[in-house]
Amino acid sequence: MGINKDWFVEKINYFLKNDESNKMKMVDNSFIFDPDVIVGFVSGDDPIFSEYKKIIGEFYLTPIEAYSWYCERKGIPISTENLSVVTYILPINKKTKEENFEYSKVNPSERWANTRLFGEQANVKTQTHLIDELKKLGINAMAPTQEKCLFKINPKIWASNWSHRHCCFASGLGSFGLSDGFINSRGKAMRCGSIIVDYTLPSDAAKRPSDPYEYCINCGDCIDRCPVNAITSKKRHDKIICSNHVMGTIPYIKKNYGINIYGCGLCQVGVSCENEIPKKPS
Ligand code: SF4
Ligand code: SF4
Repeated sequence: MGINKDWFVEKINYFLKNDESNKMKMVDNSFIFDPDVIVGFVSGDDPIFSEYKKIIGEFYLTPIEAYSWYCERKGIPISTENLSVVTYILPINKKTKEENFEYSKVNPSERWANTRLFGEQANVKTQTHLIDELKKLGINAMAPTQEKCLFKINPKIWASNWSHRHCCFASGLGSFGLSDGFINSRGKAMRCGSIIVDYTLPSDAAKRPSDPYEYCINCGDCIDRCPVNAITSKKRHDKIICSNHVMGTIPYIKKNYGINIYGCGLCQVGVSCENEIPKKPS
């Protein structure tokens, strides 16, 4: 079997079903992410990556830059003509979304906090798993966010030099919403990932909407859900207000759930885009 969309979907779903990292081990051992992922592809030389440099900042990495860095680091010949970016959406377990909606008006629920901490570890392991499986087929791949010397966050503007969500947009999986969350067919309550693969895969760029906010219906649900008014219809999402609140949840989470992490996600549940791309009002 060659590698194609089905190959990636099967590999990720199988991993999520069977790997211990995807279990809510400090709660009830249920899945952190439902094994029902969607996958997108975009060419490594797609012009949108140069656009991101203009929109986000010069520091933002294109797949060609990130992969060239990787080749140099690993001492392998630099080859960038066949690069593809593979992206995926990991849907958050239904029970976790319900709990975060019912439980909390300020702090996140226990399952949500566990998803933030252990779910991200499962997400990183998913990327490593894909890279290992590709290597078995003789295909090189890398995950920019896992390369500590490459991946950087610009604290002045709260933006990193590689963004899974922007890769998901580039590969046609969905669009951004008012709250900066990524709206897609599995819903905004998710985590996502991306890797660079040295293999030509059919790009999904044609599915990419021209409007980066195409699937947001401006219902305002997320505005009402935010406990600190970080979302407004005029200024959209204020990252500073949001991050101040999110970081302030650490003591509560430590005291009540026994884990060292921050979280919120109240704008991702109980909203029209929580589980799907919402229908536009007629
Ligand atoms: S809740 Fe409504 S306004 Fe907020 S991101 Fe979703 S669709 Fe957009
Ligand atoms: S994550 Fe929390 S603080 Fe940030 S915008 Fe969403 S609801 Fe508001």
